[in-house]
Amino acid sequence: MAYSKILLVEDEAKVCELVKAYLAKDGYDVIIAADGKAAIEQAHRHKPDLILLDLNLPELDGLEVCRAIRKQSNVPIIMLTARDEEVDKVVGLEMGADDYVTKPFSPRELAARVNAVLRRYREGLKQGEQIVAGELRLIPERHEATYLGKPLSLTAAEFKLLSVLARNPGRVYTRLQLMDSAFGESYEGYERTVDAHIKNIRQKISRTATESPNPLVTVRGVGYKVEK
Ligand code: CA
Repeated sequence: MAYSKILLVEDEAKVCELVKAYLAKDGYDVIIAADGKAAIEQAHRHKPDLILLDLNLPELDGLEVCRAIRKQSNVPIIMLTARDEEVDKVVGLEMGADDYVTKPFSPRELAARVNAVLRRYREGLKQGEQIVAGELRLIPERHEATYLGKPLSLTAAEFKLLSVLARNPGRVYTRLQLMDSAFGESYEGYERTVDAHIKNIRQKISRTATESPNPLVTVRGVGYKVEK
């Protein structure tokens, strides 16, 4: 199998060296971008399998880079954040990042997270899988979602959440269960991002079908479900 390509966006040379050496040992091909502008260019040119994105960058900051990359790609993104960037973490997740690792991290911890995110991403891309719940239809491989035959333009995180709900129509999920199923355990504590995502998905569905009732519903005091 070809090596997975990872784009590391980080302005601290020391961190770059350490991460690159460790991931190379694990069989990854690591490309480095030292600022936000270079990150967007490199992501476009090299089409990496995963992006490690430092939040605190010169030129464009990590959140802006995340937003720009998400406009054209569904590539998994792991944010690298400092402890005092709690708010940015939430914003980053809302913007479509897949996971985050808090600095200082050990290279081993980071490699484990990279493996986990890539595995989840690839499992979500099982060939030809279609998720159908009533008039909702999702094709993970192509990142295509439609309601009543009309396209829904979902971010990566929104797509994952809606996939979980639509796989089991009628079943109620708590915020924590949704976090776990869609993004993995590391999301614990960020349940409020689920509410923000759900709100966005509901709006997008409503916009495509103003006449019909929204299939994505809140179950008061419990969580959310997609109607059968
Ligand atoms: Ca930095």
